[in-house]
Amino acid sequence: AKRRGKNQYCLYDEQMERQLIRRMELEKDLRIALMRDQFIIHYQPKWDASENRAIGVEALLRWNHPILGRIAPDEFIPIAEETGLIVPITRWVLGQACRDCFEWNENLEEPLSVSVNMSVSVFDSKNLEDMVTSALLHSGLEAALLELEITETIVMHNVEDVVAQLKPIREMGVIISMDDFGAGYSSLGSIDLIPFQTLKIDKLYMQQSDMPSKRAIIHTIIMLAKQLNLDVIAEGVETEQQIAFLQSAGCSWMQGFYFSKPMARADLDLWLQQSMLV
Ligand code: C2E
Ligand code: CA
Ligand code: CA
Ligand code: CA
Repeated sequence: AKRRGKNQYCLYDEQMERQLIRRMELEKDLRIALMRDQFIIHYQPKWDASENRAIGVEALLRWNHPILGRIAPDEFIPIAEETGLIVPITRWVLGQACRDCFEWNENLEEPLSVSVNMSVSVFDSKNLEDMVTSALLHSGLEAALLELEITETIVMHNVEDVVAQLKPIREMGVIISMDDFGAGYSSLGSIDLIPFQTLKIDKLYMQQSDMPSKRAIIHTIIMLAKQLNLDVIAEGVETEQQIAFLQSAGCSWMQGFYFSKPMARADLDLWLQQSMLV
């Protein structure tokens, strides 16, 4: 038994080493990914189930690694955050998303907004306002059509500093929304300090919405949003049952695989054409 234990230890060690090597490789390659055009944005529609139409689109970053293939954001975003690369990456996503949004709206009667995910660490760079201003200026996109999704971990940050940075952005007309609400760090103590306009219910609740306790929490979040005069949207919606439940609970904005997976720009254009016909 001892010997087996030792072998297992070696195996574990090797696996750790492989993970470490992959991590170092990704970090090195991430530094040149922007320059080499290896990023692409996929867009996932947000749907209003009471009006049966798309209301906006979320930008979700994809990295096509030349050798390792598609790397998931859950793997490379943390590396980008730790290395500070998240700042130039976010600047690029903001610019590209605003340009794309301006373009698709040229063909639509009712404009669709675009939302961009903001890592908490972008606030450390102190130039978010500058990044947002220049993305809007260069694209020509109206500020009210840009939305920043910030996770609730922001409340663990220096709230005063975050509020100070968001204030001018909010005053431009940009929408600020709280992503992953209820995911774990939620502090009801600071939710009303940050100028949010939208709450996004974490998809974990949707995945467990067959449990009465999770449904009760979803109900409560929707009520909380209404009390605070915030819009509310549910993410991770995959089934008709979930849609029916959300609508009965008073939440008609939703996003998830039921409506569409995140898609490349060309596929989004097709999807929009088709969905606007119904
Ligand atoms: P998120 O902002 O919470 O994005 C939602 C994630 O849920 C996306 O994963 C999306 O593809 C996935 N999703 C959408 N609908 C469904 C559904 O019906 N069921 C399930 N199970 N999942 C669904 P993705 O694209 O892998 O992104 C993961 C996370 O990476 C994002 O979570 C976000 O935190 C981060 N991320 C993505 N793009 C960016 C970016 O440009 N900047 C930053 N800072 N973070 C990003
Ligand atoms: Ca998001
Ligand atoms: Ca989310
Ligand atoms: Ca998330």
